[in-house]
Amino acid sequence: MRALIGRTDGACRGNPGPASIGVALYDASRDGADHPSAQPDATISAAIGTTTNNVAEWKAVISAIELAAELGASELQLFLDSKLVVEQLNGRWRVRDAKLAPLCDEARARLTRFAVWSAAHVPREENHQADALANEGLDRALRGGPAWVVRRPDDVARSRGASLPDGLASDDGGSSGSATRLTLLGTGASRGVPRVGCRCEVCISKDVRNQRLRSSLLMEWRDAATATSRAVIIDPGMDLRQQAMRSGITRLDGALITHIHVDHTGGIDELRAYTDAQEEVLDVGAGPETCAELLRRWEYAFDGRTAPGHGIPSLRLMEAVPHVQLGGRAFEAIPLIHGRRPAHGWRSGAVAYLTDVSAVSPASRERLLGLDTLIVSALRDLPHPTHQTVEEALALIAALGPRLAILTHLDHDLDYQELSARLPDGVLAGFDGLVVEVAAR
Ligand SMILES: [Zn+2]
Ligand SMILES: [Zn+2]
Ligand SMILES: [Zn+2]
Repeated sequence: MRALIGRTDGACRGNPGPASIGVALYDASRDGADHPSAQPDATISAAIGTTTNNVAEWKAVISAIELAAELGASELQLFLDSKLVVEQLNGRWRVRDAKLAPLCDEARARLTRFAVWSAAHVPREENHQADALANEGLDRALRGGPAWVVRRPDDVARSRGASLPDGLASDDGGSSGSATRLTLLGTGASRGVPRVGCRCEVCISKDVRNQRLRSSLLMEWRDAATATSRAVIIDPGMDLRQQAMRSGITRLDGALITHIHVDHTGGIDELRAYTDAQEEVLDVGAGPETCAELLRRWEYAFDGRTAPGHGIPSLRLMEAVPHVQLGGRAFEAIPLIHGRRPAHGWRSGAVAYLTDVSAVSPASRERLLGLDTLIVSALRDLPHPTHQTVEEALALIAALGPRLAILTHLDHDLDYQELSARLPDGVLAGFDGLVVEVAAR
């Protein structure tokens, strides 16, 4: 089983003051892994809001434990430069500060999941990597960047092991050999269909497949390693509440964002339904530019000041570089062109979701080969500055060659039956509530 070495540090400008944590994890089986300058296998660099240095030290330890557990470690050796925290973690010194006692309890409780663990004090100069990560996080956040950056190299993600199916382990990680269920929660363009006040043929149509909420996708799979169901939503949009009720989404393991437009992010605040009920922080993955913008618009949800369960979405921003890990599954952010705005599609295993795209670069196309199922936007037939037409979407599908493609982000120009009738074999017009099962490969 995997043994990890963890180096942690907390940083604070003023005490209390803006604070951050740094965590570096090393595969202990690698030669020289215990050297203070060894290359880490996974890192966390995160701003945690205003607090004291001791709180930051404890939060760093807890985050290291969390990440080590997620990476499947059975042994963890911690090294940190706070003698106080080391002695308290080992139970040799009592925690007198009422603010710190629960953090110590939490860390010690979480450590019991490891077959073997230890915590040792090292001089500051041997802890320079964790210290640098903490300061990097603070500087980044003070400049307006994302609060959390967690790096999990592919080799670490893959070595989670046996549980990854072959087809997924070879590229970007995935579910535990089980099928993936895709539910199209919404398939409409930014205004939805029908549009408010519009009397066009599609908007007044009685065909429910012409009634489209804002585009969003639910991915569900079964994690064989833990025998639990996992669920991730791509684009918690303006209709999230209605979609969650309609599709019975009772829990989430995380959310992914394609780009900042409000039809794709307007449900961020609704995620509190899950952080409240689950009493846990929910990971939200996005590309770098989108992370910065999310932080600006929903700072209160990402600043880590409110514990989950207190009526405010308690979210942790995960910058995709280019992967993020949600519910034990890797998702790769694929850069897309959406007019003049950056957007990302998401690929996980043999499934990809590309919405709001006007063009896909050759480099991104290469990362989209070998798909089983591709969900891709097609706004209408008339050209649009920021969206593909149906014809352009079909050309992209032909170039990428997935087994199945489904069109989404459809505007009121497109009637479901008329569109379906002219699509080639292997391409479906999407509609709200459509469920597709993608077999494990
Ligand atoms: Zn959109
Ligand atoms: Zn209309
Ligand atoms: Zn958009």
